[in-house]
Parts: sequence; structure tokens; C-alpha cells
Amino acid sequence: MLLIGRESLQSVASQLKQALYNHDQWHKDIIRTIVCGLNHDQRDVAPDAHMQCRFGQWYYSDVTRELREHQAFAAMEFEHKRMHQIATRMLQEIDLGRRIEVTEYDNFASALDRLRLELMSLNREIDESLYRIDTLTGAENRTGMLATLREMQALIRRMPQSCTLAMLDLDHFKNVNDTYGHLVGDEVLAGSVRVIRGILRPYDRIFRFGGEEFLIVLPYTDITSGWEITERLRKELADTVLTTANAAEVKVTTSIGLAELDATLNVELSIDRADQAMFAAKKAGRNRICTWDASMEPATDLPQRPVDN
Ligand code: GH3
Ligand code: MG
Ligand code: MG
Repeated sequence: MLLIGRESLQSVASQLKQALYNHDQWHKDIIRTIVCGLNHDQRDVAPDAHMQCRFGQWYYSDVTRELREHQAFAAMEFEHKRMHQIATRMLQEIDLGRRIEVTEYDNFASALDRLRLELMSLNREIDESLYRIDTLTGAENRTGMLATLREMQALIRRMPQSCTLAMLDLDHFKNVNDTYGHLVGDEVLAGSVRVIRGILRPYDRIFRFGGEEFLIVLPYTDITSGWEITERLRKELADTVLTTANAAEVKVTTSIGLAELDATLNVELSIDRADQAMFAAKKAGRNRICTWDASMEPATDLPQRPVDN
């Protein structure tokens, strides 16, 4: 999953579609040139031909760091460059009045197929990422939440690692809606997630659990470090004045419950523990963090079966 904001994902999705289109156009032109014996474009025989075509201009432009570091994006460079090198050789052969070897053409066609495959798989991944993102807040929705937690759990079972869950609920949010209206409430909700994202590390995940309630997953983090991170987050949010489009200035606080992701029990139980701790934070006066302990009443009677290994 590409962990970039919804707007960036949408922008990357449309860039990729354009890149695919440009690339198809280039391919059609080069085949037409070869088959009909037309004069070729000088740029297609330049040593940096792969950087001069429209696809190359996009590829080597200012794409986001997350995309540049993505495996499929990096893999495209090799196939694209190779395809241009073969195209250059084919055009040079024709200039010399020679026939193109069958293996040369086959290599060209397969480099093209592989590049297309990489482009399409990246495209599909972006579409899936978009499907998993909540439109209002940009946090992930619940679609992939349990699967993510189960993956985390499998990881901490294989190697001694901790993962902390933080259930976070905005305090007295109903008052925000009642005072400023629902639209301002929406903006404040989205603004709060932006503040939270600014504190979290790139590999931390934030899921919109319900209305104004979020589940944060902090991988490779024990409860003590989890507390430090969420305390920074709690403080930052409490100190931030969120200014909305209609110039309303709103401050919100948050109550946070922490629980470790248990490696041996079903993940819903660990979520439930974080939820119980969050309720304890509410009860204790809000704008604070509580860590789950066994004395907290279970909120549900979820079966406490061990997970399969
Ligand atoms: P508490 O401190 O106990 O959490 O108080 P609260 O008012 O936040 O809690 P309560 O559960 O009573 O109300 C949650 C409010 O959050 C009510 C609901 O309208 C609001 N809310 C939930 N989702 C959204 C949303 O998407 N947009 C807006 N504007 N408000 C939302
Ligand atoms: Mg609330
Ligand atoms: Mg709530």
C-alpha cells in the first residue's frame, strides 16, 4: 500500500494514466516509422532517448519521494531504458539498410510488455490504496484494518517485537458541531488528522475507526515509547488552533487509550483493550492517555481464543 495522502494518490493515478497513454503513442509511432520506412525522430537515437520521450520526461521529473522509492516505479526504469536502447539499435539498422533481427524485435516487444505490466500493477495498487482511504479525513478506512493488524501480529510472533495500538477519540466533539455547525466539524476532523499525521512516523498507520474515533498502529513500539509518541500528539493537538475556511478558530483535545498488540490472542481483543483504556481516559477527565491493564472491565465478551500459528 502506498502511504501517501489521498490527493497525492489521485494525482499519481492520473499521471500514470497519462504516462501509459504517452507510452502507447510513442510505441505506435516507432512501429509505424519502422514498418513504413519513414524518417525517424533524432531524439529516438540519442544516447538519452529514454529521458527525452514524454514518458521519460515524466519519469525523471519531480515525482513524489514515496513513488520514486516504490519497487514497481524503480523497476520501470530498467525496462524503459532497455526498450529505448533496442529501439535505437533497430532504427540504426534500418538507416544502414539492414533487416532487423527477429530476436532483437522479440526483445523489444517483451521489454515493452514488462514495462506495461509494471505500470498497470502500480496503477492497480494506487486504485486499491484509494479504495482504502477515508475521503473526509485522509486516514485509512476500516477496509484493510484487521488484515494490517494480523500481518503485524504475524511479524511480532516471528521476532520479538512490540506493536502498540492507540485508540483516540476527540473530546466533546458534539459541542464543536453544535457550536459551529457540521461543516466546520468536518474541517476540524480533517485538520486534527493532519496534526496527528505530522507527529506520526512514516510507517505508523492511522485508521478511522468510527465518527471521531481513530485507531493508530505503532509498529516496533513498546508501550513506553507508544506513550511518548501519543503524548506528543495529544499535546500538539491541544495546543493547535485549527482555522477553518469560514475563519472559525477551534481547539480540540483528545483522549487516548493504549494497549499492546497481543501476539497470541485475536486482534479484536487488543483493539478492545485500547478502547477500554480510551474510555478510562474519558472517565478520568479527558485530554489524557491511559494504558490498558487487566483491572479494566472488558467492554464486550469477545471470545478470547488463541490465534492459529
Ligand atoms: P466525548 O468526549 O465523550 O467523546 O464526547 P463527544 O461529543 O465527542 O462524543 P459523542 O459520541 O457524544 O459524539 C460524537 C460526535 O462526533 C457526534 C457526531 O455528530 C460527531 N461526528 C462523528 N462523525 C462526524 C463527522 O464525520 N463529521 C462531523 N462534523 N461530526 C462527526
Ligand atoms: Mg468524542
Ligand atoms: Mg466517539
